[in-house]
This record gives sequence, C-alpha cells and structure tokens, in this order.
Amino acid sequence: MRRSYRVKKPKEVFPPCDVKGCEKEGSCRAPKDRTLKEYYHFCPEHAAEYNKNWDYYKDMSVDDIERTIREDTVWQRPTWAFGKKAKIDDPLGILGAAKGVGQAAPKMDKETEQAMHILGLTPPLTKDKIKRKYRELVKQYHPDKTGGDKEAEERFRRVVEAYKKLSGE
Ligand SMILES: [Zn+2]
Repeated sequence: MRRSYRVKKPKEVFPPCDVKGCEKEGSCRAPKDRTLKEYYHFCPEHAAEYNKNWDYYKDMSVDDIERTIREDTVWQRPTWAFGKKAKIDDPLGILGAAKGVGQAAPKMDKETEQAMHILGLTPPLTKDKIKRKYRELVKQYHPDKTGGDKEAEERFRRVVEAYKKLSGE
C-alpha cells in the first residue's frame, strides 16, 4: 500500500527590505544599477517606488543610490504614497504634533503659567495676543482710571509684571 503524502514546501525566506526602517520582507528584487548584476531586496511597496524612480537614479552611482535608500533622504519624500502611509503609523507621535492633533502645550515654567493666568491667556500664545490682552487690562486697571483703588493698583502692577515675563521684556 502506497501512502501518498505531500512534501511541504518550505516557506521561502526573504531577506528584509533594504529600505532603512522597513521591516517587511524583501520579496522583490530590484537591480542596483543598469548592469543588472546586483540586486536590492525590497518589499513590494518599496520595489514599486524604486521602479518608479529608476530614472531618478540613473545618474547616481550605486553608492549614492545605496545611501539614498538607507538614509531616508528620498524615501521619505512626502509626495510619495508610501511615505504618507508610513507617516500615518507615526509611532512617535511626531505627525500628530506637526498637524496639531493631540499636540501637547509646550512645557511651561510656573512663572509663565502664573503670568498667563494673570493676563487671562490660554495657549497657544502669540506676541499679538499677549499685547492685545495686556493693553486691555492696563486700560482696565490703570491707576488713573481706578482712582487710587488699592486692589486695582496691585492688579495693574501684576499685569505689567506678567506682560514683561511673557513678552520677554
Ligand atoms: Zn520596504
């Protein structure tokens, strides 16, 4: 009695994609230059990008091409589809910060925070915003206007101080 069995073909193992930072399998080969003697291993996405830019590489030496694909110079061009895709992953949250999504307020020291509170300001601060608010409060608390009211005088003083702090004057 013959037993039939299938020999399980071992899964082909590919080297990792040659593009820096790409952890996919380099299942596609792409020639390093026009002599077609040496090849890169790219994941399908990067192979497509590489092919698309074949003309761009034509005047580059293999060394230059190598540098380009390993140093994020060309591969990270924002106009490239895969570049966008890579950015969406954004493991470090850099993109979020750049787009203002979930952007944390810049770290402030206590004095700055206090000064903002006195002027009734909230981040983000702009010079214009600070100045506008300052003028408004100075008018409001100016001793000439409040007839020597001690509390107003104190507030006025604090507003001036806060403004100096925030405007860096
Ligand atoms: Zn890749």
